[in-house]
Amino acid sequence: MSDQWIFLNGEFVRKEDAKISVYDHGFLYGDGIFEGIRVYNGNIFRMKEHMDRLYESGKSILLNMPYNQEELSELVIKTVEKNGLRDAYIRLVVSRGVGDLGLDPYKCPSANVVIIVEPLAIFPKHLYDTGIDIVTVPTRRNRPDVLSPKVKSLNYLNNILVKIEAHLANVSEALMLNDQGYVAEGSADNVFIYKNGKLLTPPGYIGALEGITRNAIIDIANELGYKVSEEPFTRHDVYTAEEVFLTGTAAEVIAVVKVDGRVIGDGVPGEHTNYLLEKFRRKVIEEGEKVNLPDENLHVS
Ligand code: PMP
Repeated sequence: MSDQWIFLNGEFVRKEDAKISVYDHGFLYGDGIFEGIRVYNGNIFRMKEHMDRLYESGKSILLNMPYNQEELSELVIKTVEKNGLRDAYIRLVVSRGVGDLGLDPYKCPSANVVIIVEPLAIFPKHLYDTGIDIVTVPTRRNRPDVLSPKVKSLNYLNNILVKIEAHLANVSEALMLNDQGYVAEGSADNVFIYKNGKLLTPPGYIGALEGITRNAIIDIANELGYKVSEEPFTRHDVYTAEEVFLTGTAAEVIAVVKVDGRVIGDGVPGEHTNYLLEKFRRKVIEEGEKVNLPDENLHVS
């Protein structure tokens, strides 16, 4: 029996007992929203930003949230405490709930709420030292006027196609462009380039999710006196950048050393990427919403 506890619609159940109906519209249609959040050293990083994004996503798709924001934040904290993990990834999913086989969300009387907490390493540790090779792929980012990237919905097919294309190219991650050919983002991460003393990341209107890690890096870079700009750029700008890196809750900050066969900078993680990663790692263990956990496995950095 696993010792992992899942929050499922008001109660904690063991992982193997955490089941929902095949009539759930999240399963049938991808009708729902989610967040990936991280707890570092017993502090939940930027919980309010994650909750704001979740509730804005819910409002946008008219999903009735069964808890208010404070209640759900409290439940996230309780789930982390119940699992006793100081360093973990939190997946919060709110689906439209159980309905019939038709699309109609009005036939789903109540949302399903799931909170999963578990250790996570998306990229093997050594890749943070070596950096990763990536490609750009044919799949384009959804147009913001078709499905807003601000809605972090369960409809991730767009991103999954990107991941498949990355695998087909024998790399672990890929960049997608928007419908006009500007660089949008990775399958589940944002992209930054450093060139001529400036740090650039695509603006939200390009079609990228305005990631919480991305915003934390923008804050850190501004505090450190970098020139930071949210502006559109092309593949050419990526190929000729001095440094490229990706950011995300799961990925954190990871250097990119090759894009479509073009070596970036010296082919190793650059000094600015390393510096920003170091500052980010310091920030995440220091700030955040405290959870109440025993001290015996206190994280020492
Ligand atoms: N873009 C997409 C498409 C994502 O799924 C994610 C992961 N949530 C990100 C960017 C990075 O966002 P964040 O830093 O908030 O995790």
